[in-house]
Amino acid sequence: MLPDSAPRHRASISIIGAGIAGSWQALALSRAGFDVALFERDDPSLQSSTGHWAGGMLAPWCESEAAEPAITRLGLRSLDLWREEFPDTQRDGTLVVAHRRDRADFDRFARQTTGHQQVGRERIAELEPQLAGQFDRALFFADEGHVEPRVVLPRLHQRLGERGVPVHFCSAREPAEADGISIDCRGLAARAEGLRGVKGEMIVVETGEVALTRPVRLLHPRWPLYIVPRAHNRFMIGATTIESEDDGVSVRSALELLSAAFAVHPAFAEARIVEIGAGLRPAFPDNLPRIAIHGDRIAVNGLYRHGFLLAPALAELTAAYLTRGAIDNEVMTCA
Ligand SMILES: Cc1cc2nc3c(=O)[nH]c(=O)nc-3n(C[C@H](O)[C@H](O)[C@H](O)COP(=O)(O)OP(=O)(O)OC[C@H]3O[C@@H](n4cnc5c(N)ncnc54)[C@H](O)[C@@H]3O)c2cc1C
Repeated sequence: MLPDSAPRHRASISIIGAGIAGSWQALALSRAGFDVALFERDDPSLQSSTGHWAGGMLAPWCESEAAEPAITRLGLRSLDLWREEFPDTQRDGTLVVAHRRDRADFDRFARQTTGHQQVGRERIAELEPQLAGQFDRALFFADEGHVEPRVVLPRLHQRLGERGVPVHFCSAREPAEADGISIDCRGLAARAEGLRGVKGEMIVVETGEVALTRPVRLLHPRWPLYIVPRAHNRFMIGATTIESEDDGVSVRSALELLSAAFAVHPAFAEARIVEIGAGLRPAFPDNLPRIAIHGDRIAVNGLYRHGFLLAPALAELTAAYLTRGAIDNEVMTCA
């Protein structure tokens, strides 16, 4: 993070979209000395943002199973930035489990990722007492973390307010309307060239019968899914990854998500369903994020399934570009 003591810049910057990408851009650029304003079309609940549906996992090592090394690199940096900004960011790790019949998937996941220890029944019982006896082996990614999107976004907006950054809700803007520098963080609404929506379905359940400390990922040949503990005995079960821009939830997906929860702990059978929904993840064809620079018009998009994981590091890169002209060749393009 650029320190507050960085040289002051007078340029004014309009950031469009107060989702996770735009909020972190506003924070980093304000810290770098710019005169920043954030504009959001939605009200503070941000129900039309993709982030509203997200798990909020900060899991650079787990995600490296299927993602490019750049995601891990930026994700590791982001973990530190989350911790610096919010020292109470949960960092209890991730537990990855599989049933015995899915041993091959477990072994493959272990081979394709780093940052984990393989643990047996005793350690599983210490980490998650309620999973005692359910699984023989697990992978423990001790340094991963998670945030609760619907809590952390208002906290970010509050932090911006405390720094004197105006956050204008119910204020749709287009980049062309902005004076000075604009940073387009509209997510899928930007309809940038090549950008597509990838559906992620999720279910929130509530039960006092299950207690988990950290996200638990269940490996399965057809539907690798996860359960993220939330406040007030709630659990977010997610998420499908479907090439579709329809934001409905299918019966098949709902059954699979609920079956996954039941497979992790049978007490989920009695849980109350609180919410079912889907968000569309903004993704470019290579599923990598992009900071596209066209003079004073900068667009930060394509955060795909890693918005919470990557937003702080991407914001730091934009600040480094605007203060020192630094370019990160993996994620920045200049026209
Ligand atoms: C089910 C699911 C689970 C996920 N889990 C995780 C996870 O565990 N970890 C993780 O890192 N990521 C996760 N993601 C991905 C993450 O949610 C996205 O990568 C992230 O939300 C993208 O952030 P964004 O700010 O680019 O877009 P958005 O979150 O969509 O925010 C864009 C904002 O711009 C606003 N906007 C649009 N047009 C305008 C306009 N004209 N003027 C002003 N404002 C405008 C929108 O209202 C919105 O608030 C998940 C996604 C889904 C769907």
